[in-house]
Amino acid sequence: MKKTALITGISGQDGAYLANFLIKKNYKVIGTDRRSARSDNWRLRRLKIDKKIIYEEMELGEIYEIERIIKKYPFSEIYNLAAQSFVATSFKSPLNTSNITGLGTLRILETIRNINSKIKFYQASSSEMFGDVLNKFQNEKTPLNPQSPYAVSKVFSHYITKNYRKSYNMFAVSGILFNHESPLRGEEFVTRKIVRGLVKIIKNDLKVLEVGNINAKRDWGYAKEYVEAMWKMLQQKKPDDYVISTGNSYTIKEFINLTTKYLNLETKWVGKGIKEKLINKKNNKILIKINPKFFRPAEVNFLNGDCSKAKKKLKWRPKTDLKKLVKIMVDDEINYYKY
Ligand code: NAP
Repeated sequence: MKKTALITGISGQDGAYLANFLIKKNYKVIGTDRRSARSDNWRLRRLKIDKKIIYEEMELGEIYEIERIIKKYPFSEIYNLAAQSFVATSFKSPLNTSNITGLGTLRILETIRNINSKIKFYQASSSEMFGDVLNKFQNEKTPLNPQSPYAVSKVFSHYITKNYRKSYNMFAVSGILFNHESPLRGEEFVTRKIVRGLVKIIKNDLKVLEVGNINAKRDWGYAKEYVEAMWKMLQQKKPDDYVISTGNSYTIKEFINLTTKYLNLETKWVGKGIKEKLINKKNNKILIKINPKFFRPAEVNFLNGDCSKAKKKLKWRPKTDLKKLVKIMVDDEINYYKY
């Protein structure tokens, strides 16, 4: 019989890739989004699956809406991907972030417990929970040290998922995913912002790209591969939490250098600190400069994940290195630029 899955946040990057993955596995996919949805489902159209999904409105702040949807379909799996997911916004809207990214998870768990506690539940936890890291490599046992309202909300969701698993014997798991990018990444996130910004400059649609802290290091993987790990977590005999990462960490500056190289731009960095700039050697024009308005009030300087447990138990491993990921993102940006 066809399995039915619910994906909250269907319009986001991971929602689109996961829906595509589950449809290929012959799932019936119900996708929910909020009433005031920002996106027009361009990601689902890009993957040519927009007509294969049943859409429902579900605001994570409203438990009655969650109850209505969970009662309406015979779900075997629920993937909670919806969140106020942008760290910078979480400093501006900490209450909304806590209500959606934090309490939203509890609303779903409580509804599952009341309606059908056999439904398997996936929570989108984040490497941002490690924050100001306490270990060189972060795995499932590394202490959490969140540095933003977003990360604090994810920590709440992470622990409440563990707590429901233990207290009520529910199949509830968290995937602690390190940064994962793709051509479907939101434009506000730094990797897509860099790729899009540099392509815009080449097309003469932008003069200078402004970025924040270019020395922050991240472990970047390819989103399309990461959604498979989410599904695998729900196919295990026992519920458990897993880190999903590449194990390699690069600075934002290194990401910029890989992008300019792939775009055949000859560049050099000049200046120091907030005065540092990337110059186009051909015409001496500034391509990128630092704007402190993009700095976070509390920074996360370094993230590097150890996904040995996922490799061993889920038989999952990352396949795309950063150079290849940059190529995928740049090629797609140029391809779809005029749209
Ligand atoms: P995304 O592209 O920002 O998608 C977030 C989704 O949540 C969007 O569909 C968004 O709808 C929806 N949403 C926002 N507020 C909502 C609300 N009040 N009620 C219902 N839905 C709401 O994020 P993503 O990259 O796909 O990430 C998926 C999940 O994984 C998120 O929870 C994120 O925090 C987490 N995560 C992501 C990464 C990463 O590197 N991508 C790493 C670790 C964890 P709109 O389109 O209307 O905004």
